Amino acid sequence: MSKRILITGGAGFLGSHLCERLLAEGNDVLCVDNFYTSTRRNIVHLLDHPNFELMRHDVTFPLYVEVDQIYNMACPASPIHYQRDPVQTTKTSVHGAINMLGLAKRTGATILQASTSEVYGDPEVHPQPEAYWGNVNPIGVRSCYDEGKRCAETLFFDYLRQHKLPIKVARIFNTYGPRMLPDDGRVVSNFIVQSLEGRDITIYGDGSQTRSFCYVDDLVDGLIRLMNSEQAVTGPINLGNPGEFSIRELAEKIVAQIGSTSAIVYEPLPSDDPTQRQPDIAQAKSVLGWEPTILLDDGLPRTIEYFANL
Ligand code: NAD
Ligand code: UDP
Ligand code: UDP
Repeated sequence: MSKRILITGGAGFLGSHLCERLLAEGNDVLCVDNFYTSTRRNIVHLLDHPNFELMRHDVTFPLYVEVDQIYNMACPASPIHYQRDPVQTTKTSVHGAINMLGLAKRTGATILQASTSEVYGDPEVHPQPEAYWGNVNPIGVRSCYDEGKRCAETLFFDYLRQHKLPIKVARIFNTYGPRMLPDDGRVVSNFIVQSLEGRDITIYGDGSQTRSFCYVDDLVDGLIRLMNSEQAVTGPINLGNPGEFSIRELAEKIVAQIGSTSAIVYEPLPSDDPTQRQPDIAQAKSVLGWEPTILLDDGLPRTIEYFANL
């Protein structure tokens, strides 16, 4: 049955793919975004769709609309963006969560929070299961994002305990694909753009730190399954691809796939940069019947094609 679905941060990288999928499934989609880290380009092809509506709005301010489901995706996600105005980042996570939870409470909507593997900080448990409480620096340069997202999770579970709200919390691990911003500083987009332009590839540190990369289509599928799971399923639930790679391996793959002449250069490691990260997705498999299907070797060419055509 068709639903009225609010997607905050709907013009962003993940949000725009989610808008597309939910429209294709026959829903009414309300995309709310203040364009802090995105442009209309990501959703311009949806503007003429009869079931799509775009609203410019900052989620740190109250929002009164009538909807059945809320995907709360609004928040800058790349370190250079969320560190540019760290106070605003915390406000977006915390005030944004309060407003969207208030909206869910008034309308009875089911609300899903785009949380993050960053709640695990620099993890001492590997791979990370949902039961792990994390190792987060509360006063570092990444804290505005990590602690903001942790506080948002707290709010979601307090609205569940106090107001019996139907909540869903997804802990999203590094996701990549078309519509990442070419200059947002995340590793996959950086390395692809540098390789395509024949510029040096900038590895921070010695490149031995690891990440596990999920292709956007798989991730969107996981978010939709979680949203439509039975009410008892609240999460937090890890969504990500367990295929783990060192940053050096990632650089080598991208250079090889593009056939680039770029050299690899080493730059200082930013502070609090996690040394390893891999999702334990046993819960997503058993509870949602979900696991990623797109290998890094298959997702990278699609992403490279997008940036090559920009
Ligand atoms: P993105 O920066 O492309 O998208 C975020 C969107 O939120 C942008 O369109 C931005 O303009 C909007 N936004 C920011 N502040 C806002 C505000 N105050 N009011 C309204 N809109 C606002 O990032 P993304 O990768 O698409 O991430 C989407 C969500 O998923 C974020 O909440 C992020 O923390 C989470 N997440 C992403 C990843 C990933 O690897 N992409 C991993 C973990 C979690
Ligand atoms: N809110 C909103 N839209 C709504 C309902 C509430 O933006 O449709 C905001 C409102 O500004 C409030 C917040 O959500 O500050 C939390 O709402 P809640 O009802 O939980 O708390 P209260 O109104 O008692 O502060
Ligand atoms: N990184 C890198 N070179 C870059 C951009 C990022 O070596 O040009 C590293 C970064 O230090 C981190 C990893 O790649 O160890 C992933 O960085 P990203 O910002 O994409 O995501 P996050 O650190 O939030 O997982």
